[in-house]
Amino acid sequence: MRVELLCTGDELVTGLITDTNSTYLEGRLFDLGVKVERVTVVGDVRPDITGALLEASARADVVIVSGGLGPTADDFTLECAAAAAGVPLEEDARVLGWLQERYAARGMAINPGALRMARIPAGAEPVRNPQGSAPLVIQKLGRAQLFFLPGVPREYRALVDGEVLPRVRSQLATEAHRTFRAFRLLRTVRLPESVLNQQVMPLAPSHPRVVFGFRTHAPENHLKLMAEAPTQAEADAALAAAEAACRVVLGTHVYGADTSEYAPVLLELLSRAGHTLAVAESCTGGLIAQDLTAVPGASQVFVGGAVVYTEKMKSAWVGVPPEVLRQHSAVSRQTALAMAEGVRTACGATFGLSVTGYAGPGGGTPEDPVGTVYCALAGPGFESRCERVSLAGDRDRVRLFAASHLLEMLRLHLLASPVSP
Ligand code: ATP
Ligand code: MG
Repeated sequence: MRVELLCTGDELVTGLITDTNSTYLEGRLFDLGVKVERVTVVGDVRPDITGALLEASARADVVIVSGGLGPTADDFTLECAAAAAGVPLEEDARVLGWLQERYAARGMAINPGALRMARIPAGAEPVRNPQGSAPLVIQKLGRAQLFFLPGVPREYRALVDGEVLPRVRSQLATEAHRTFRAFRLLRTVRLPESVLNQQVMPLAPSHPRVVFGFRTHAPENHLKLMAEAPTQAEADAALAAAEAACRVVLGTHVYGADTSEYAPVLLELLSRAGHTLAVAESCTGGLIAQDLTAVPGASQVFVGGAVVYTEKMKSAWVGVPPEVLRQHSAVSRQTALAMAEGVRTACGATFGLSVTGYAGPGGGTPEDPVGTVYCALAGPGFESRCERVSLAGDRDRVRLFAASHLLEMLRLHLLASPVSP
């Protein structure tokens, strides 16, 4: 099945908004095994929209159109659809009824602008929009089937999921030679993209049905596996084999799969063991607390912590002895260890974590230049430990990778000692 997308709207060609509708639909279609052949974006210009509809429907089996169905003067996509098909626009009694119901429910009288939304190309089929006024309109143009959707992303997605994809799916089921696909996203940390590539690509020849893809999602790198086969069972089996082989070579670098994100995975590990966590942050300024508290239910595990940005607060809040700061400075192994132990004691948590470093662009010393970060972990049954990391990049990147490195120290510790101490 050849599918094309057409997006209309001046906002899309003047840099005002990004075409997220297409990205969404492309992903959903790809999950069904359909790769979109072409995406066309045109401004609110009648002949351009009409021309684009005619061109796309000459090439594709299905054309999915976004935008310009609303009540305002710049909404004329259906006029163009009627022109392209050589049919008139006609008021549709079903749409009129839905509009009247919707306006009445809000205590409003229907206005002439709204009435325009009831005018659809003769012979087209309207489908009610559960999230808004403008309906989905389905029209035949030549051999192509055209779906017209409102541009508002919330409405667009609801209609894509509820109406368009089920129709595409049943049409696909009638096709003789289909490709079935299966996907897995393996999420890794502390593996540069080049190393990830080097570790898994030697496996690729043994898995000819699987496409290996790489995505950088700082501070993580992701491996996307896509299996293609003539049946779903074969695609699933090919994917499972490739995934297992990749997991063997990547080991603990894989922290999760598909939609599992880092912070929830770590919190789940801690929660299962009944552990709690506190964090003392200097150079990351609360980034870690933000990451952890973004996860619903984090309070089960994350007790709290402190942003101890100055020497004064490192002593006052997490008890770093002033002589440690004087002797070793605020960015040092000794200070990081004292911070981790101090925040653990202050919060009464199973584990204390700390981070202190030079995020730049200024600061640093000859021994510890910008990008040097000390990360420490304190907990029960082991001697507190500190890792010194040298991070490249700007301030944002150093902070991001410092936060990731610190949390990963804890995750690796938990994996190495899964039984609660
Ligand atoms: P409305 O009833 O709101 O007028 P419509 O079908 O006429 O809906 P548009 O006017 O083209 O749609 O777009 C409505 C809003 O939806 C735009 O202001 C824009 O913010 C958003 N939008 C439109 N197209 C896209 C797109 N391709 N991707 C993301 N957002 C979009
Ligand atoms: Mg509009």
